[in-house]
Amino acid sequence: MSIQSKAAREKFSRLRQALLQLLDEMRGLVEPFLSDRPVVKGTVYELKRKCGKPGCKCAQGQLHSRMVLSASERGKTRLRVIPRGFLVDIQKRVRRYQELRRARARVVEIHRQMLKVMDQMEAMRREELPSPGKDRNGSGDFRR
Ligand SMILES: [Zn+2]
Repeated sequence: MSIQSKAAREKFSRLRQALLQLLDEMRGLVEPFLSDRPVVKGTVYELKRKCGKPGCKCAQGQLHSRMVLSASERGKTRLRVIPRGFLVDIQKRVRRYQELRRARARVVEIHRQMLKVMDQMEAMRREELPSPGKDRNGSGDFRR
């Protein structure tokens, strides 16, 4: 294959644009990794439960509510109660962590797409040396 026809040139140009766009997006994805602010792994949610004491308000349906951090550690999900006053801070750190994970997953995807585009571009540019005794009249053109 080589890039001589108009269609091939247009295809190559689209691949070039695609590659540059992927590179642009990659740059944005690296951004959150440049920060050194702390992150916390896990998810924050409200845990409602009954304590089991007879006569407690929770027995009548007013469940006890705690904010907890859920995170898997060595394959097990661990719940930790978030102390009062720490919720906003923890949530910020958790959001930062989740942003890193999302960006990382997208980097994997973009990386895969970039390699695919780069391979296509390389294939389009690739030429073979003419075999001896053939192509005497210029179909193997090496002047470019
Ligand atoms: Zn209770």
